[in-house]
Amino acid sequence: ATHSSDVSQDVATHCPYCALQCGMTLRAAEPGGRVEVLPRQFPTNRGGLCQKGWTAAELLDHPDRLTTPLLRDRPGAELRPASWAEALDRITTGVRTVQESYGRDAVAVFGGGGLTNEKAYALGKFARVALGTRNIDYNGRFCMSSAAAAGMRAFGVDRGLPFPLADLGTADTLLLVGANVAETMPPLVRYLIEQRQRGGTLIVVDPRVTATARQATLHLQPTPGTDLAVGNALLHIALAEGLLDKDYIAARTSGFDQVRRVAAGYWPARVEQLSGVPVADLEAAARALGTAERAVILTARGAEQHAKGVDTVSAFINLALALGLPGRPGSGYGCLTGQGNGQGGREHGQKADQLPGYRRIDDPAAREHVAGVWGVAPEALPGPGVSAYELLNALGTADGPKALLVFGSNPVVSAPRAARVTDRLRALDLLVVADFVRSETADLADVVLPTAQWAEEDGTMTNLEGRVLRRRALRPPPPGVRTDLAILAELADRLDPVSTVGAGPVFPTDPREVFTELRRASAGGTADYSGISWDRIDAEQGVFWPCPDPDRPGTPRMFTDRFATPDGRARFVPVEHRAVAEEVCPDYPVYLTTGRVLAQYQSGAQTRRIGPLRTAAPNAFVELHPDLAARLGVEDGDEVRVTSRRGEMRAPARLTPTIRPDTVFAPFHWAGTARINSVTSDALDPVSRMPEFKVCAVRVEKA
Ligand code: SF4
Repeated sequence: ATHSSDVSQDVATHCPYCALQCGMTLRAAEPGGRVEVLPRQFPTNRGGLCQKGWTAAELLDHPDRLTTPLLRDRPGAELRPASWAEALDRITTGVRTVQESYGRDAVAVFGGGGLTNEKAYALGKFARVALGTRNIDYNGRFCMSSAAAAGMRAFGVDRGLPFPLADLGTADTLLLVGANVAETMPPLVRYLIEQRQRGGTLIVVDPRVTATARQATLHLQPTPGTDLAVGNALLHIALAEGLLDKDYIAARTSGFDQVRRVAAGYWPARVEQLSGVPVADLEAAARALGTAERAVILTARGAEQHAKGVDTVSAFINLALALGLPGRPGSGYGCLTGQGNGQGGREHGQKADQLPGYRRIDDPAAREHVAGVWGVAPEALPGPGVSAYELLNALGTADGPKALLVFGSNPVVSAPRAARVTDRLRALDLLVVADFVRSETADLADVVLPTAQWAEEDGTMTNLEGRVLRRRALRPPPPGVRTDLAILAELADRLDPVSTVGAGPVFPTDPREVFTELRRASAGGTADYSGISWDRIDAEQGVFWPCPDPDRPGTPRMFTDRFATPDGRARFVPVEHRAVAEEVCPDYPVYLTTGRVLAQYQSGAQTRRIGPLRTAAPNAFVELHPDLAARLGVEDGDEVRVTSRRGEMRAPARLTPTIRPDTVFAPFHWAGTARINSVTSDALDPVSRMPEFKVCAVRVEKA
């Protein structure tokens, strides 16, 4: 490398992967030399890093790194290296041609939960202002959207954890629903250890005996898709045993009577039948929560990635409210965000229905405020678009978008019903992918733009606690590579913006300038960053939003005296159990559930390229109970085929008694024939539009 002549000092930054955003120090012993990762004391990771964090720098100088744009001259031709001018010209011409023929909405944008706040903000602005399209959404829809929607309807605001992470360590009872933190966020395990060393009770709800469930005091192992019933049963028991906080319910909430009536129908014996969780375990869990001085309830993807994900989260929020937890010191409900900037990614306008500051795009006052910051006429801003899967599923169809620009996402691997999504991508007139490696989605693109990596640019991220953090550059990007902000600015410059006011929209390339604009755009919104500056973040180890005042602290703990609803009260929402979208049947007699493994991350586009991670987790597998395997005549290591109504995948069988005999599990990090999302369901939650990744009906056989 010849690009790092000006730096060789330590840089304090954060891991490029998950929402824990562990603090790390980057060190290049000599200019251009290998970059070393050192763990850094930070309030969240307390000096810990997982294997992914330790090896994160390997991609910086990886041979797979893209350092020149790639172009496909015609369908069927190979991608070839091209100049930036040629690549940008091709995009501009393609966008213009599509928009002239089919209208502005015919060009769509797909973003990612790993993009910095500045990029997420710039991408939303670029779509609405430079392209004038309503069609923008992002992969966070596959991650956080159910908990976000449930949080909004109960609390009037969506912040993953409305309290500092440290509260986990002091909870007398901690309930984790569908959260395998021991594999997804290993440094967080130290809070669980601390909690148990203090004599606390850890309850885990998961259909598998995961690494996290093994540490639990009590493990509830429900049939996939029955978490909601479990949540309602816990409330039923708490009601029956007089464990509710009646004063809190009266003073701080509304709508309990209806929820009480619904909960009455979830007597433990009925829920044992539905979920397979024994009555005694349901009772023990409800008592441990209801008698605790400090209790915390957390959900994650296991509870949320369902066609009833929003209602499932609501069941656990109802429970938390009935026990008087939200806003009580050391207690509360929270959601464990997954992607690195899953939180910030959904606050600054890359979601189909949102503008910066977590504002609704159909709110006239929000449109006027944001249009003013952007220098455009409010009526020129497009309205809401459709959700991520609906967007992908419409690509190339008669009424759907004909061009797509993808930033920081790999939907060929990560979208549900992935074979169909792949066909949709192939049907486009123009597919542009901005990434730093050639992902499976980039393989299909007409234009691939090489982008900078996390250690090569500054920016901010918002972690799972709503703490805004600073990513710092160790060195500039290699020659031939540009930042996403520079790409958006160049493209905006070449495209016709929507109707402008005054000087019209500007797309700064300096992330600090973008952040300054983002602060103004977010002012007065739900996620208000207007009082946060990069200097404050440096001085205060991150600043928690909402923070509307530069002279006052941020908000580590929310809801202490009111909720963000118009009347200040939290809202109970009655929710009923309903069947999964696809029940098992004679043709597809087994449930499939999916998830992650410690050494890989998301679609694997990055981590599958890192030597030690590949060694630790070289390939996909299908986890089966030995009883099921015996019935199928499958032995450990045999190649099996998993087939649903949508497609199939193949991988070696891994026999383990830690999974229910009616369920198989496969991780979602692999592509090609090992892509489990070829099999998963595209049934959507009616509110969040979250696909039902976590359960569908499959057939398993020896391949
Ligand atoms: Fe990175 Fe998450 Fe691992 Fe921390 S837990 S090192 S943020 S991947």
